[in-house]
Amino acid sequence: MGAAEVIAFEEVRARKQWDTLRHQLHERFDQWLDTLETQWHEPPATLPEMTATVWNLRQQLTGGITEAIVAHVHRGEHDRPQVNCPRCDGVLRAQECVCRTVETMVGPVQLERPYFYCRRCRVGCYPFDEALGVVAGCKQLDMQQAVVHLVTEVPYDTAQSLFGNLTGMTCGSERMHTVTNQVGEKLTVLDVAPSREEILRRIASVSAGRFRRPVLVLGIDGAYVPTRPDSAREPQEGRRHTRAKRARWRGQWRDAKGLRFYLLDGERIVHVLSWHQVQSDEQLGEALKQIKEAGLIPEDQVRLCVVCDGAEWIWKHVQALFPQARQVLDYYHCAQYLHRVAKAHYGASVQAVEWVEATMTRLYLGKVGLVLGGLRRMQAQSDEAAKAIANCWDYLDEHRGRTHYRHLRRGGYPLGSGGIESSNKFICHVRLKRSGAWWYESNSNHMLALRCAKYNGTLDQVFVRYQQRLRKTSE
Ligand SMILES: [Zn+2]
Repeated sequence: MGAAEVIAFEEVRARKQWDTLRHQLHERFDQWLDTLETQWHEPPATLPEMTATVWNLRQQLTGGITEAIVAHVHRGEHDRPQVNCPRCDGVLRAQECVCRTVETMVGPVQLERPYFYCRRCRVGCYPFDEALGVVAGCKQLDMQQAVVHLVTEVPYDTAQSLFGNLTGMTCGSERMHTVTNQVGEKLTVLDVAPSREEILRRIASVSAGRFRRPVLVLGIDGAYVPTRPDSAREPQEGRRHTRAKRARWRGQWRDAKGLRFYLLDGERIVHVLSWHQVQSDEQLGEALKQIKEAGLIPEDQVRLCVVCDGAEWIWKHVQALFPQARQVLDYYHCAQYLHRVAKAHYGASVQAVEWVEATMTRLYLGKVGLVLGGLRRMQAQSDEAAKAIANCWDYLDEHRGRTHYRHLRRGGYPLGSGGIESSNKFICHVRLKRSGAWWYESNSNHMLALRCAKYNGTLDQVFVRYQQRLRKTSE
């Protein structure tokens, strides 16, 4: 037999299969039309009436069609006579078929699949479910993904009603909560970071047609988020059916430490990578180290720059991991220090304002040595003033290499840490700071990780890994 004939035979076979499926789908459609007919006593007149009728019945149609496709594609699994026991490898014969209805974004889908049971190992299995990629519980992965998209934007109660209104399906806020924490569990910075290739692509988009390499800024900062202690999980003693007592735990504002890499494209910021967690500074340093060691930052293709306030722990990590990076002390934090000195020394006066302006200008011109000398010569009139002057001197001396603002500006570097501050806002505050919301630390970190993934453009990738994790645990 020639090759051409073989292909022709395959084609005929495929054609026949498709015809069979088409026929089955038509049958489903007919069934749906029967339902439609019974509901349509009088044909609706307006478009809203028509769409409402179709909307209410659409899940029956789309779910039903999916059911037919599943049955057609997995006929082999449905008719499977035997399987090897996953534990002892003994041969198991198919028992009765068991029905199960799962919920998907296209509606409920009923599955009919054979059950296998090993008497020796006392373990049962459904190979059909594995072949189809069905997960435990009613809500399937497409639904879980939609839920995560929604709850990373709005509070759980709002998400519940929005989900119901927009999809016509129900998913309780408790269930949404569980799904979110399962997906967000154990995510690391590398799980939510874009790949090196993706980062290179973003860099290339900014550097196109430019003479100089683009500035890649690393900002590091903390944001306070409202948390509750783990002890709040313990059931409260007391009789049931009585009014809930006031919570015995006290909420606490904890520091969510975050880092953000972003590119400067003129006035525009091109986001690259954010990672925020309620964590210690060592953990943040560890995350930064993972980014470095994974080779995510192509240091030879950008001019790396770190802009932060004066916090010592930040510079420690930066110095250790990116010693070549240009370091910038946030202009506004710096000005605040000078304002404190001026207020203590000159009081609220025109002189105070003039002194701050003159001093900032000197710093701008790179004359930090002059500023330090001037502070040294100031005759403090009070203990408060002496203290403010000494603090300011230490601060500027510590950061003397980071305040040459004119030079930095000419190089196209940012002078302020606005980039990380806005990241604090759109990742942490927008979702976590809600009236009455106090988060368990672990849950707040799951939410933060998912929101980082969303802004980093990696939420789909996080979902693929979640799916792989589920598969692994079910094996
Ligand atoms: Zn067995």
